[in-house]
Amino acid sequence: MDTKIIRVEEPHIQMSLLRQAGEIIRAGGLVAFPTETVYGLGGDALSPESSKKIYAAKGRPSDNPLIVHIYRMEDLAFLVSEIPETAVKLAEAFWPGPLTMIFHKSEAVPYETTGGLDTVAVRMPSHPTAAAFIREAGGYVAAPSANRSGKPSPTSARFVEEDLKGRIEMILDGGDVEIGLESTIIDMTAGKPVILRPGYITKEMLEEVLQSVDEDGTMMTDESGQAPKAPGMKYRHYAPEGSLTIVEGGGEQVTSYINRQVDRLRQQGVKTGVIGTDATIGRYRGDVCKSAGSREDERTIARELYRILREFDDEKVAVIYSESFDTAGIGQAIMNRLLKASGHHIIYLNDECY
Ligand code: AMP
Ligand code: MG
Repeated sequence: MDTKIIRVEEPHIQMSLLRQAGEIIRAGGLVAFPTETVYGLGGDALSPESSKKIYAAKGRPSDNPLIVHIYRMEDLAFLVSEIPETAVKLAEAFWPGPLTMIFHKSEAVPYETTGGLDTVAVRMPSHPTAAAFIREAGGYVAAPSANRSGKPSPTSARFVEEDLKGRIEMILDGGDVEIGLESTIIDMTAGKPVILRPGYITKEMLEEVLQSVDEDGTMMTDESGQAPKAPGMKYRHYAPEGSLTIVEGGGEQVTSYINRQVDRLRQQGVKTGVIGTDATIGRYRGDVCKSAGSREDERTIARELYRILREFDDEKVAVIYSESFDTAGIGQAIMNRLLKASGHHIIYLNDECY
């Protein structure tokens, strides 16, 4: 299949291009599109055939449900059997934006889209191209992240191209995304809302709107023994080709520990990589050292993380060490993704190690 790649320049979005993209979805095809979180791989959410095509293009297990994207609040009622008052409040505060809510599904949503579940995940993205595209596509676009299963979510159209060129009809290229990590997922179906996946919208932000929300206990732990509530969280999302180890400890301790490891590995002829920050990256002796951004503004780290992980694979780095990140605010989402990428391989330094 020939994949058309179309550059969409904001703020003057060329509507004729988005109409073409919408037409592809209505005809049962697939289009990758930019959102504020990561690129999505869109298909008609109401068509079982389209959802099957999404799973096939990604190489994704079909029990891992898709998120249905809408562009206006009026369309939510069609997808769900009930809208709790708490969800209305969250929508008023965070939609359009990087928050996905889980509801009991209506009959309009096929089981192919929900991975066989009676619930449906819904999000209203804030990215202007995404919103206009969803409208042109008929209002209901099922979309997981636009990567091949097992790769990091794409934060730029070139990564979508790397993974899906030849497998989908069109890629809307809107440049680099703003946030860089997937949406926060919150389950609204069970009395008290429960966060299933951390993201840009944090527990603290949610609790400014609702008194209190819970967190899925498996979110930051090695979940091998327990089933997480968001089916997608059970898969080992992305493991770089090289082995990734997170090192936690005081600043100086971490730098010297990692440097000792990379020196030792170099003697063995092993290519090493280090993920640090703007303040520390110059101190590392790894073969490939990359700064994820600045700790003063962890949003910069969220934006760069997936690109960096892809680059280590491109550069055939065999062993990667990463600094650890705060689990407050967006740091929790960063750490959640990094822990998954490392297969929960984390070293805690203390005085004895030193
Ligand atoms: P992605 O779009 O690649 O971020 O993947 C969608 C995520 O949403 C996966 O982790 C899914 O498990 C989760 N998800 C989608 N629908 C549901 C649902 N009905 N219940 C729980 N989690 C869901
Ligand atoms: Mg994904």
